Amino acid sequence: MKVLVATEKPFAAAAVNGIRKIVTEAGHEIAMLEKYPSPDKLIEAVADADALIVRSDKVTADVVAAAGKLKIVVRAGAGYDNIDLAACSARGIVVMNTPGQNSNAVAELAIAMMIFMSRNQFTPGTGSEIKGKKVGIHAYGNVGRLVAEKAMALGMKVMAFDPFVPADVMEKEGVEPAASLEQMYGECNFISVHIPATPETKGSIGYDLISAMPAGGCVVNTARKEVINEVELEKVLSDRPDLKYITDIAANNQAELNEKFGRRVFATPKKMGAETAEANINAGLAAASQIADFFATGNTKFQVNK
Ligand code: NAD
Repeated sequence: MKVLVATEKPFAAAAVNGIRKIVTEAGHEIAMLEKYPSPDKLIEAVADADALIVRSDKVTADVVAAAGKLKIVVRAGAGYDNIDLAACSARGIVVMNTPGQNSNAVAELAIAMMIFMSRNQFTPGTGSEIKGKKVGIHAYGNVGRLVAEKAMALGMKVMAFDPFVPADVMEKEGVEPAASLEQMYGECNFISVHIPATPETKGSIGYDLISAMPAGGCVVNTARKEVINEVELEKVLSDRPDLKYITDIAANNQAELNEKFGRRVFATPKKMGAETAEANINAGLAAASQIADFFATGNTKFQVNK
């Protein structure tokens, strides 16, 4: 089988070596397409690929249509909104992600963002401490859980909302389950956003939720920009000059937000939550192992388009 690794933003060398080793030792061939200048290159390269490993690369319906032999796509990372699931499913192509492999990197960034905003973006002036403050974890998955664990270690109180995680699981981990999103936003000094971008969650965090936050509240978004209603975000930041927003995924109206709200907002210049050597290697190796296992045993444990 031919495994194509298509990464517009390449993996670290150690990850590439590890992927190569796993793929070839499993008896497959590997092809690399790195830093490609346009989607056309990906469309050309997938023509004879049986398996595809991508990072944030877009696997569109056109890519799928050009990939006549494709059986599996693995997104080395957690979010898989860059993959046209419907197009893959229609062709019986298995799509997987590599959950958990970059969670620690993202969780560390979320904590760093809380401190950064509490200390005036490291500029002169009196800031505040995060110890004793309350953080609301919006989605208690791999990243959310790690943020909760680290926040508790720093002396924060932690609440979480996730309709798919039973309350007793949160309680056992020292986390207060929120009865509703409204309750959580209403009580927490920080909200750490970890919901995936789905048709249900897109634009779901807007004026009503953010304006419910107590004085000085700060929303920390390391998930996706799409889950925020950006027009309403701008309005709530105008109406409530005490609130703050920091994100790892710049809003479409980020330039406007920066100009209007100065140090009350911040966006990383480029998404960097998972950009650690450790996360890079973990996710790449997991993707290669999942493909080797899929071809050897049919294992579809991490399939997201079942
Ligand atoms: P995960 O799949 O482990 O957890 C997602 C959680 O969301 C699950 O517990 C699920 O029950 C919950 N959920 C789904 N719909 C919900 C809803 N409507 N309300 C509340 N909870 C809901 O994913 P993860 O590894 O924790 O990653 C979370 C998100 O972070 C990803 O979807 C991705 O968008 C983003 N991410 C960003 C970076 C980055 O570089 N900034 C890196 C990795 C992941």
